[in-house]
Order: sequence, then C-alpha cells, then structure tokens
Amino acid sequence: MNGAAPVPEFGPATIEAGDPRYESLLRGANHRFVAKPDRVCVVTTTEQVVAVVADAVATGLRVTVRSGGHGYEGFTAGDGGVLLDMSEMTAVHFDPSRRAFAIEPGATLGHVYRVLFKNWGVTIPGGECTEVGVGGHFAGGGYGPLSRRLGAVVDYLYAVEVVVVDADGTAHAVVATREPDDPHRDLWWAHTGGGGGNFGVVTRYWVRAPGATSAEPAELLPRAPSRWRVAYCMWSWEAMTEEAFTTVLRNVGTWFEHNSAPGSRHAQHSASFYASHRSGGALLLQAMVDDDIPDAAALLDEYFDAVCEGVGIEAVRTQSVKPWLYVAAYPNWGDPGTQDIRRAKLKAAYLRKGYDEDQLSTVWDHLTREGCEHNQFILIGYGGQVNTVAPDATATAQRDSVLKAAFMAVWADEAEDHEHIARLREFYRDVYAKTGGVPVPGEASDGSYINYPDVDLADPDWNTSGVPWSTLYYKDNYPRLRQIKGRYDPRNEFHHGLSVERP
Ligand SMILES: Cc1cc2nc3c(=O)[nH]c(=O)nc-3n(C[C@H](O)[C@H](O)[C@H](O)COP(=O)(O)OP(=O)(O)OC[C@H]3O[C@@H](n4cnc5c(N)ncnc54)[C@H](O)[C@@H]3O)c2cc1C
Repeated sequence: MNGAAPVPEFGPATIEAGDPRYESLLRGANHRFVAKPDRVCVVTTTEQVVAVVADAVATGLRVTVRSGGHGYEGFTAGDGGVLLDMSEMTAVHFDPSRRAFAIEPGATLGHVYRVLFKNWGVTIPGGECTEVGVGGHFAGGGYGPLSRRLGAVVDYLYAVEVVVVDADGTAHAVVATREPDDPHRDLWWAHTGGGGGNFGVVTRYWVRAPGATSAEPAELLPRAPSRWRVAYCMWSWEAMTEEAFTTVLRNVGTWFEHNSAPGSRHAQHSASFYASHRSGGALLLQAMVDDDIPDAAALLDEYFDAVCEGVGIEAVRTQSVKPWLYVAAYPNWGDPGTQDIRRAKLKAAYLRKGYDEDQLSTVWDHLTREGCEHNQFILIGYGGQVNTVAPDATATAQRDSVLKAAFMAVWADEAEDHEHIARLREFYRDVYAKTGGVPVPGEASDGSYINYPDVDLADPDWNTSGVPWSTLYYKDNYPRLRQIKGRYDPRNEFHHGLSVERP
C-alpha cells in the first residue's frame, strides 16, 4: 500500500442557514471572525469544487475557501456567498505518476507528519502547530522547527492542482508543476509563497525534494528525525530588570546574526524566544534538535550559554528527549488558548538583524506596562537552509533573514477586542517607530510573512512608511504575482483583505 486511503467520497454537503449544522461551520481557529455565507459547501473531490465554483460564479456569489481555518485574518469570513469547506479533503499518499507525495488541502500538518512518517519515515519542514491546514500553509510559504536545517515547505513543492475561473466564467482544474517547460509553471510559482485565497481553489499539492532523482518514495523527501531533543531555558519574570531583559533580547539577536548561515553547525536546530507580558510570568528560550546529530545536547547548551551571557539572573534549564512524532504531531501543539479563549491578533516581521537599543527598550516597555497584559512577543529562528534559495526562485521573497518576530494577543471576551488590538498595534508601531510603524525592507528588517497576515499593514493609520503592504509581504515578487493573478483569476473571483491585485 502506498499510503493512507483517500477519504471516502461524499458531498458536496450543502448547508444553509437554519440547518442544525450551519452554526458549527462558520468559524476557524480565530473566533473574532464569523462567516455569514449563504451556504457552506463541504467538498471531497476536485470535480465537486469545479461544480460548486462554476455554480457560484454563474449566480454571482463570492467564493471563499477554508481548509484548516487557521488564518489570522477574517479572509474566509465573508458576508453572503459560498464558503467552500475543504477540511474533509485530507488524503496523503504517494503518487508514482508524479514521483511525489500528493497532499489534499484539508489535511492538517499533524496528519501529514503522521502519514509521511509512519509509511516512509520522511517529513517536510512545516509548522509546529498540528492543527494548521495544508491549504493555506503551503500557499503562504510554510516553515517550522526543521526549516533552518531543511528550508521552507515551498522549497519542496513540486506541483499544485488549482480550480481557476477563466475570463468567461468557466471553472476548471489546472495542474501546475515546477518543471521548466510546464506552460502553467507560473501558477506553481504563485503557490510558493503568494498566499492562499488569491488565484483559485487548491485541491491538491504534490511535494518532492528539489533534485531528488530516486523512484523510491522514502528517498524523495528528507528523513524525519527519530527523536527530538527539546530544551528550555526559563527566567522568572519577577526577577527581571530592564537591563537583564534587554541583554537577553540583544544576545538572541546577535546569536542569530552569527549562527544562521546555511549548513552551519547551529543551523541544524530550531530556536526561539518567548515572552508573555510580565504579569503572565513566562519568559523562555526553546530549542529543538534531531537527537541523532552529533553533540545535539552541546549545541543547545551553547545557544543557551550565549544568550545567558551577562544577564546576571539565574535561569532554569531543562533538556529532554522524546520520540519525534510524539512532539511533531502532539494534538493541539502550538494552538493558543482553549475553546473559550479563541480571539487573537497577530502582527509579524522578518529580521535581518537583532533589534537596536531603542527597540529593545520598547519591547521591555510594552511587556511591562500596565494595561498591556495580553501582549506577547516571540522571536523564531529562521535562515539556514531557507537562505540558500534565490528571492525570485519562489514567491517567498525573504531569503536572507535570520528571525521572524510575532507580536500576539489572545483573549476570550468579544467586549475586549478593541482594547487588546489597540495595545498590540501600539506595541508594534513603537518597535518600528523609525520606519513608519512597519518593518520596511532594509538593513535590519525585511517586511512580513503573508501566512501571518495583518490588515493593518494596508491601513495608512498604522503604516505611515509610504511602503505599500504588498511590498512588505512580497517585495520585488509582487509585479509577477499580479501578472499571474491577471492570467488565472482575471475576474478577481478570489479576493480578500490582502489579496493580490490584478494588473
Ligand atoms: C496557532 C497557529 C500556529 C501557526 N504556526 C505556524 C507555523 O509554525 N509556521 C507557519 O509557517 N505558519 C504558522 N501558522 C500560520 C499558518 O501557516 C497560516 O495561518 C495558514 O495560512 C493557515 O492555513 P489554513 O488552511 O489552516 O487556514 P485557512 O484559514 O483555512 O486559510 C488561510 C488562507 O488561505 C486560503 N486557503 C485555504 N485553503 C485554500 C485552498 N484550498 N485554496 C486556496 N486558498 C486557500 C484561505 O482562503 C485564507 O485566505 C500558524 C497559525 C496559527 C493560527
């Protein structure tokens, strides 16, 4: 057997208001956004997607597409129209005809890791959160704890099947590969970081390592680790002074500047920094590495030693070794909140360098101020193998950063939306005060990540840099994305708050 059997076909299940199922299908992970479609169509085949899209176009209804529902903005929460629910298209199998692994968009990352690992012992360098859906994750770039070692997910994307709508309203499926002579190669390229909800409905991805020549499935993707070594280094927030805190953060930046070259010893492991607001009590470094790598424990210790240098406040350190799949596919790993704490806002940035002294004290200020208790701040190690790919080889333009920053707030009560979003916006604006409130590409910053979308970047109140949102996300790749949009979605059937514009 080559892999998981496809999910038995049903549908499309068409669910309208008044149906007892309707209310359950309106939300993704972020409960700030509630869709109000005329109908939800739960689909299980490409043919069904073609039929649903054709019908929607013929009747003038907007189509939105949700796979894992883990988008950070309300891009699938339209008013009226048809919401395509792809979450039952979850098959993951080896496709000998394309010498690649076929993955349907509703598969969650945890499911993908399980099937690839159990059948072939291989994996892809995808995100840490097991519930994220492949549908949006791959199209937006995709990265995770193995990315410094192996690259971005899209560096493994071989092909994509997309249901597109022609100028005359005809819906049909197109398969686009990275083969140089493929007439649809541009459509493949657009799905290597162009972001979901832009060009059509992805009904299947195929992944295979670049340059892999074998016919053996187990040799077509990187081998997954057998065990993860997971390390934490924690400080008490209570004991922290501004000097100690900014020393930690400065050390993190400097360490990544010096230890993110492709193939370097430390590019073999993941590493991150997490700080809640002071009132939340959590301040920690985390790092993970394949335990079969020589000196795995020493590698992580070296990272912690470097970051602790000169801090002057004792940290508690732990290391443990766990079976890889246990960590990679642990249920709900990485998902913030609970069923009742599901309101979130995220703002993000790429860093080519660590923060300067003003930015360090601004981070301290917004994590210790009264009234900002929901602010959280995360730095996630990037670079390494990701930075071996040219900025225009895929739509993921940021190819020389060493960190991603995530500014996040998570809360429960709708009545508090305004307050927590306002505090987070101020935090981000102040950190990027010298560049118009946003991480303008330059010596130290490199814009932001479309899989962490933030509509504020298109709002002149919060982006005063004069640099458009599209440059912040796509840099020089944007004109080509627009051309591709013009060719494959000439009617702009697929659009949302930060969608690629037609030429
Ligand atoms: C808790 C959490 C943890 C995360 N961790 C990581 C991480 O470690 N690494 C990382 O890279 N990212 C991470 N992300 C971001 C994640 O990759 C993106 O939010 C991704 O776009 C989610 O995809 P989805 O299918 O789950 O979401 P959805 O909300 O279903 O979709 C997101 C966007 O993609 C579009 N889309 C979805 N499916 C399709 C399709 N089949 N065809 C066309 N367009 C489609 C939607 O219309 C929407 O615009 C995380 C997000 C969350 C909420």
